[in-house]
Amino acid sequence: MKKVAVIVGDGIGPEVVSATVRVLEAMELPLELIPAEMGQDCFRRTGSYLPDVTLDTLKGSDCCLFGAITSPPSYDPTYRSPILFLRKNFDLYANVRPVRRLRKDVGLVDLNLTIVRENTEGMYTGKEREEGDAVILERKVSEHVCRRLVKYAADLAKREGLGEVTCVHKSNALRRSDGLFRKVFFEEMEGTGLQAKELLVDAAAAAMITKPREQACWVTLNLYGDILSDEAAALVGGLGFAPSGNYGDKWALFEPTHGSAPDIAGRGIANPTATLLTAVMMLRFLKMDTEARRLEQAVERAWLDGAMTRDAGGSLSTNEMASAVARRL
Ligand code: ATP
Repeated sequence: MKKVAVIVGDGIGPEVVSATVRVLEAMELPLELIPAEMGQDCFRRTGSYLPDVTLDTLKGSDCCLFGAITSPPSYDPTYRSPILFLRKNFDLYANVRPVRRLRKDVGLVDLNLTIVRENTEGMYTGKEREEGDAVILERKVSEHVCRRLVKYAADLAKREGLGEVTCVHKSNALRRSDGLFRKVFFEEMEGTGLQAKELLVDAAAAAMITKPREQACWVTLNLYGDILSDEAAALVGGLGFAPSGNYGDKWALFEPTHGSAPDIAGRGIANPTATLLTAVMMLRFLKMDTEARRLEQAVERAWLDGAMTRDAGGSLSTNEMASAVARRL
């Protein structure tokens, strides 16, 4: 029995995660789903965004399935994002965001792109300080972090038979920091049998639209990966289609790329596809490949058959979409 900590979080988190849990339960898998909590609702109830009991549950689990959390409405200098804390403290260094179009009439571009994003440093160190009238941000790029990230991306490209990895950087402007990432990329790719390519991040943003490839894998730094993966999601129909996994060496946390979407929360209309595809990634991590494929095919089939949520021009609710997938398992 694998232990999965389930954190629904805030906003649409509870809606998309519950819908996904219902589908997982219908699959009758050897999974023990253990509820845990964090985020703003949790803070209101317990006084903590990430209680110790949640950390204990996470430590005792094989992985976590997480929805989304809402950040505090106003600036609070003591607030630390629980999700950034977990990525950093559980050393979840590789954020994998695959983006694929499920229907020709949803989205704009036939993308099939996996973005492997550095998840622990870069622009997201959270270290900002005021100096005179300026705010100075500490941006960190370290060699060992780049090395393990590139290794992760190369292994993923091999596993998925992609034949190549593209390094996305901005080393023409950020010569030392991005230059280090680029140098490590070419060193680590030597002897992998994969083709090593590179793109400047601005060119990558355009190439996604003008030259979508059959299938590609991009490895990139934290901020670039965050922005590019939102762009990629928009091109295939929106954030409702973008799953993600945060991987460390032994443990992983799976979450849809989208946030808590307060604008549509509580209405039962959020698209659960991103979370269902996130569960596919989670099953693969748990070495349940056949079951992962079974769920993935059910999601693909549901969309091809015309089961569609509102964000994609359909009319199904969150639960109706999940049921449409469950029926096709
Ligand atoms: P947060 O502050 O938690 O990041 P946000 O609204 O700023 O929330 P997202 O949650 O990522 O950011 O949402 C961005 C937009 O995408 C919103 O308009 C939201 O309604 C839409 N959206 C996000 N996820 C979904 C989904 N699963 N289904 C439908 N629309 C979604």
